[in-house]
Amino acid sequence: MKSVTGTTAPLLSLRGIDKYYGDIHALHDINLDIAAGEVVVLLGPSGCGKSTLLRCINGLEPTQGGRIFLDGYGALGEDIGWHAARQHIGMVFQSYELFNHLNVLDNILLGPLKAQKRQRDEVEAQADQLLQRIGLYERKTAYPRELSGGQKQRIAIVRALCLNPKLLLLDEITAALDPEMVREVLDVVLELAAEGMTMLIVTHEMGFARKVADRIIFMDAGKIIEQADPETFFTAPASQRAQAFLNLMHY
Ligand code: ADP
Repeated sequence: MKSVTGTTAPLLSLRGIDKYYGDIHALHDINLDIAAGEVVVLLGPSGCGKSTLLRCINGLEPTQGGRIFLDGYGALGEDIGWHAARQHIGMVFQSYELFNHLNVLDNILLGPLKAQKRQRDEVEAQADQLLQRIGLYERKTAYPRELSGGQKQRIAIVRALCLNPKLLLLDEITAALDPEMVREVLDVVLELAAEGMTMLIVTHEMGFARKVADRIIFMDAGKIIEQADPETFFTAPASQRAQAFLNLMHY
């Protein structure tokens, strides 16, 4: 969508987001714009609010202040309901969140058929294509218990992609994986980035963050402390808190 000044509106805009869990002020006045096609990586120490921010963006957690805008749809939870918003904002979790009683294909088809009311033939063709791409087409009738952690996480990514989301939120998607499976999952994400998928990613994989990000956002204690391109952030972070964080990560 072009604005009157001819500039492109951000795909996602957060304005003044505040989030409390009881007395804990988890997010303080968060303001953030993400452009279409941009890959933004959120970094920061454990407990600083990264996961909460992702969960607020697709309405899994209510906010106590501020608004979230998705280009073309207005304010989420107001102009467009959360259920509808989640059809445009895919999310992948550390713990996969696959249904164990459904096979791979049925896990993938559930959202597109039930929530998006699409035709089975069309969605299954898309699912087949995505499964072929990640090398798991042969496992389409397998159940989650028959898959490795890396395979389950690649299926969870395909499930999110099959909704044709405008934005993908990835919350520590390799944190539960054995080291030898991390690469196969991160490679899928790198491919998506190269194809122009807009993503907001939380990760502890610093090498991956540096490679995949167009922009790094560093948070601490519920606030955005600094933002920079990855080269600048990793070689010359502006704040002492970011320097301390990178030292702690041995990076
Ligand atoms: P991060 O993802 O950066 O590790 P989180 O978003 O998980 O941080 O947590 C931010 C803060 O909110 C922390 O103080 C955490 O303890 C608190 N918190 C997160 N989830 C909950 C919850 N469901 N109930 C209460 N407090 C929570």
